[in-house]
Amino acid sequence: AVEIDKVYKSFGLVDVLLGVSMTVREGEVACLIGPSGSGKSTLLRCVNHLEKIDAGRISVHGKLVGYREKNHRLHEMHDRDVATQRRSIGMVFQRFNLFPHKTALENIIEAPIQVLGKSKDVALAEAREHLERVGLSDKAGNYPSQLSGGQQQRVAIARALAMQPALMLFDEPTSALDPELVGDVLAVMRTLAESGMTMIVVTHEMGFARDVGDTVAFMDGGVIVEHGDARQVIADPQHARTQAFLAKVR
Ligand code: ATP
Ligand code: MG
Repeated sequence: AVEIDKVYKSFGLVDVLLGVSMTVREGEVACLIGPSGSGKSTLLRCVNHLEKIDAGRISVHGKLVGYREKNHRLHEMHDRDVATQRRSIGMVFQRFNLFPHKTALENIIEAPIQVLGKSKDVALAEAREHLERVGLSDKAGNYPSQLSGGQQQRVAIARALAMQPALMLFDEPTSALDPELVGDVLAVMRTLAESGMTMIVVTHEMGFARDVGDTVAFMDGGVIVEHGDARQVIADPQHARTQAFLAKVR
């Protein structure tokens, strides 16, 4: 489970997160929606400690993110421990940031070999399974420039999965894609959701949020305005701000 408890985050004078609390259960797909600038990406980045929070706490599977607790006080983790913790959290961004000079297969085996210390044979065998899982068995030898945006994004998902994450974070994984490529990426995410992966997904795809999401949280102005059952929030939002937002994106 992911527990986000009264999290505050500012950048200089800009207050971005103003006391965000949210729990994501094991195996839950939590979708995060809301207008541009509401703090969705910042919240996601706080969950794997790419951003330091100013107050509150976040824990993933019972472990505090970025801090150790000693004598009821929080101490910052060493960089090495942060890196170890981050390994169990996969993140897929809007822009597929694959290594351009490596093939799909080479992109996937890099971290399992370098970080997890797997042998090349084992890493290769697993990478092929992950490629199959995202429907790209026949593209193992392609470089990113030889793949469509949707295929690159699926390789990025396979690469994250190769680290055997306990949690996957997605930040608008389809919003940079041509419309006809969106479906394949969402299908991979749906399969992943059905396999029981715990996921937090920032998305503008309301169909995905409704059909695949267990819960939807609507963020606006650095707070979660409404949070509940996915189908209910999307079909029958209770708050005026959620209603106005959904009326615009639908
Ligand atoms: P979008 O839907 O456009 O991706 P978002 O909900 O993901 O928006 P964030 O990217 O979290 O929004 O940004 C929230 C606010 O924080 C914005 O006002 C943004 O300008 C500000 N912000 C984000 N990162 C930084 C940073 N590193 N330094 C300063 N301000 C930042
Ligand atoms: Mg964002």
